[in-house]
Amino acid sequence: MERVILHIDQNCFFASVEMKNNPELRKVPMAVGGDQDQRHGIILAKNALAGAFGVRTAEAIWEARRKCPNLVVVPGHYDQYNYYSQKAYEMYCQYTDRVEPFGLDECWMDVTGSPEARDPGALADTLRTRIRDELGLSCSVGVSFNKIFAKLGSDYKKPDATTVITAENFRDIVWPLPVGDLLFAGRATTSKLARINITTIGQFARLEPSFIRSFLGKNGEMLWIYANGLDESPVARCTDRRDIKSIGNSTTTAEDMMDEEDVWKTIVTLSEQVAGRLRRQRRMAGTIQVHVRDNALHVYERQMRAKEATDSGEEIARMAMALFRLSYDWKNPVRSLGVRASQLSGEEGQRQISFFDPSYQTDERRKIGEVIDTLRLRYGKKIILRGVQLTRPDRDILPDGQIGWNSGGFSAGKEKEF
Ligand SMILES: [Mg+2]
Repeated sequence: MERVILHIDQNCFFASVEMKNNPELRKVPMAVGGDQDQRHGIILAKNALAGAFGVRTAEAIWEARRKCPNLVVVPGHYDQYNYYSQKAYEMYCQYTDRVEPFGLDECWMDVTGSPEARDPGALADTLRTRIRDELGLSCSVGVSFNKIFAKLGSDYKKPDATTVITAENFRDIVWPLPVGDLLFAGRATTSKLARINITTIGQFARLEPSFIRSFLGKNGEMLWIYANGLDESPVARCTDRRDIKSIGNSTTTAEDMMDEEDVWKTIVTLSEQVAGRLRRQRRMAGTIQVHVRDNALHVYERQMRAKEATDSGEEIARMAMALFRLSYDWKNPVRSLGVRASQLSGEEGQRQISFFDPSYQTDERRKIGEVIDTLRLRYGKKIILRGVQLTRPDRDILPDGQIGWNSGGFSAGKEKEF
């Protein structure tokens, strides 16, 4: 049976979330900066007004400012992006158990055999309306018989549009597109193809497979399968665990950290974020790692195994601080810090819990953690703070948002609009 696959792509995701939370930003050219450190920061996302000035994703903030001097650059709010990403994912899971996220702002859905599959274009329109009404965001949707064309479809017309690519029309819609639009067709491949005058997907699709194998190797063969609409890779099920190896956050503070109190404050904040993400993924960390960069850009890294797997911010912060003390000699002030959890265990609910196990009593603490998560997601990180985060109110070195290490993101060697 021919499959019915949708690919949903949130339009300008990071910038849209920022504009939803602060409507004033709709009126000005704005961008989300990828690093708190504006000296090295890049543009992660921008709104249409900034786009009109020629501001591009992935360019340096200083470069963007040269084109658009009034550009408002806001820090990313990773927790917010996670929140909306999760909400959208839950919505898709109401239609099928085959939902596969691709980064934070994209998902594939396979609705083959469901009542909605009879008119998938209508389902796509319904989803766009729901995303607009329920989340206040906008997305574009591609509908096709394989994942590759569905993804091309969501990119074909945007924002807020549906494109249906069928076995009958794909030669008209897909084949005139540049070959670089194919998923996993990187710059090296496209420039090699350009040298033999192959620039469109259609030209590429009509090449001999044996020639492609010798010219581009195995990766080229895969692209040829994609170009001809022959991709059969399945959409993962909701229940398939996303293969996340680690969860971490890092930050460069607005001013260098001068002493242990500065470091502790930062570590607590980072650890709370890491713990919150662990809880949302229903994972526990077996190993904690700390990453330190000083103001001379020397890097120190150290890790330790937890006595017991944990998703507690307090626990993670204590281990991270111990690691910091072990690895750092304070020859220089600290420029940036990262906390990472790895050796993640599976579903929390599947963990063997013994009544005699002291960790059974941590259930209460976990519930508190979950309440804190919800409050922060709804009202922002500052709605609730640990005592230590309130010390030295005159010295607020922590940025509002944290963009750093993440998991589940994806890079196909191309610029990606979030
Ligand atoms: Mg997007």
